[in-house]
Amino acid sequence: MNKTPVYNFGAGPAMLPKAVMEQTQAEFLDWHGTGMSVVEMSHRSKHFTSIAEESEADLRELLAVPDNYRVLFLQGGASAQFAMVPLNLLARDGSADYVNSGYWAGKAIKEAKRLANVHIAASSENENFMTLPQDWQISDDAGYVYYTSNETIGGLEFQSVPDTGDIPLVCDMTSNFLSRRVDVSRFGVIFAGAQKNFGPSGIAVVIVREDFIGNARAGIPSLYDYKVHADAGSMSNTPPTFSWYLCGLMFKWIRAQGGVDTMDARSRERSQALYAAIDASDFYNNPVDPAYRSRMNIPFTLPGESLEKTFLAEAKDAGLVTLEGHRSVGGLRASLYNGMPMAGVQALIDFMQDFEKRHG
Ligand code: PMP
Repeated sequence: MNKTPVYNFGAGPAMLPKAVMEQTQAEFLDWHGTGMSVVEMSHRSKHFTSIAEESEADLRELLAVPDNYRVLFLQGGASAQFAMVPLNLLARDGSADYVNSGYWAGKAIKEAKRLANVHIAASSENENFMTLPQDWQISDDAGYVYYTSNETIGGLEFQSVPDTGDIPLVCDMTSNFLSRRVDVSRFGVIFAGAQKNFGPSGIAVVIVREDFIGNARAGIPSLYDYKVHADAGSMSNTPPTFSWYLCGLMFKWIRAQGGVDTMDARSRERSQALYAAIDASDFYNNPVDPAYRSRMNIPFTLPGESLEKTFLAEAKDAGLVTLEGHRSVGGLRASLYNGMPMAGVQALIDFMQDFEKRHG
């Protein structure tokens, strides 16, 4: 048995709280005295229906989702939403505004361009995505304005919801969902893959305003139509039942911890401690504009790639794993989602300070 706790700083799939993992383990063979595992249950059974209904009710409560929004639990990850959003919100000749803040916004833009007219309302590409785009030019005829609330690779995060007047917002909240309070009524669509802040991979939550349901373009695959899922309670076909169940446990866990405000306070505490440690040293560096630094994903560098390799190897021996930066940018990255305890962050900071003493 490995007695040293292992803290996984991966960007997703990511660490889940120990209590949730233990509950999953305890219930795995026999869910609530049924003699069955959730993985063996029919999605149409009353047992699974209760899991699905409770998960939606808990999520609605956590975010105070207004009644005129539907909550969908869908497959295809956040990436499927890159296509579903234009296919459901825009006619074939329609257009939308996109804000280019980095890698994940770029992916959404690329997909949307295949399906609609895309206008880039703002971009920070010229700043190498080290800051968020300023001076948005919103088109009058935009069907929606799309942005990415947290850039998982760049380590940039919107600290508030942008104001686009009457034009509905669509937001990819994959990497900061349920880590801070948001006013859902400001959005047409919010979507998030689960595998960072609230569950395992295989499922995404889509919160969509009712008037954006039922307008999908003719001729698209039915599984890309929000109405098909809304009408079927996200069970038009077999949903990823186990992933859905685990999201439900996470929603209950977040509620029991005090809700999204507690997640917000903890995420502030975790990220402030790590940024303070990085800023106090000349050895470690985070290049992101301090106004928009992400509380979720903190990229940092050391003086030289060979030191970074040594750091990763020694960190792994100390139980601090998956600290590699994304393959596209290199360097290091610590992801601090809802499942990461402060003890993990403190262990990382202690390790970084010790490493600097020995190698700095
Ligand atoms: N958007 C963001 C911000 C992400 O971080 C990711 C995954 N890292 C995605 C979208 C894509 O998610 P998925 O793999 O679930 O399609």
